[in-house]
Amino acid sequence: VSETRSADIQVVGLTGGIASGKSTVSGMLLKRGFPVVDADQIARDVLAPGESAFKRILERFGADILYPDGTIDRRALGRLVFDDDAARADLNAIVHPAIARRSAITFVEWSTAGHPLGFYDAALLFETGSYKNFPLVLVVAAPVALQLQRLAVRDPDLSERDALARIDAQMPLEEKVAKADIVIRNDADLASLEERVEIALVEIHDRLSLS
Ligand code: ATP
Repeated sequence: VSETRSADIQVVGLTGGIASGKSTVSGMLLKRGFPVVDADQIARDVLAPGESAFKRILERFGADILYPDGTIDRRALGRLVFDDDAARADLNAIVHPAIARRSAITFVEWSTAGHPLGFYDAALLFETGSYKNFPLVLVVAAPVALQLQRLAVRDPDLSERDALARIDAQMPLEEKVAKADIVIRNDADLASLEERVEIALVEIHDRLSLS
């Protein structure tokens, strides 16, 4: 029975640009009873001490990438593989399958709990190619001026120049919009965003033939 049910769940990819409103939309989906998982949280979970990916990373990269408390310093790891293609490929070969396994387990759990629909929130869904695993991708888009404004509120120490650099480091939002199946424009207040989430949910149910 569980196998049939696990095949029943449909998971929609959720992405967007930096400070475009993904987490806010995730919260609105959760509030409506839909399960949502954050890809970054899964990445942190699979790197926790005791996990097989943790052990393999330690074997490959050594103890220099650990914080004094024995957990992995992801920034140090990032610096180590930044301009070393072979090292980056090794890291991806350890981390990506672990994330895929953990995600699959999460989706089965959702299905077993009776959910027909869930969401996978990942900032880099297009950049990593993992968008291909989802029947639909939902993009939350905001104009750059609002992204900057929201970044400034969230992180007052970030200069406008650095904020722009962070936005520019990602795939342009309009490119993500062009690749999206469904777009939520987050260019007004939160009440409007709630309405657009409702509209997107109707379209998602329709396109996935959910009741
Ligand atoms: P990141 O990927 O960079 O973490 P994000 O895409 O998840 O960002 P959020 O954290 O949802 O973006 O939104 C960024 C900030 O903007 C938050 O402080 C959020 O409360 C605020 N915000 C988002 N949408 C709106 C809106 N429509 N009106 C007012 N504030 C908003």
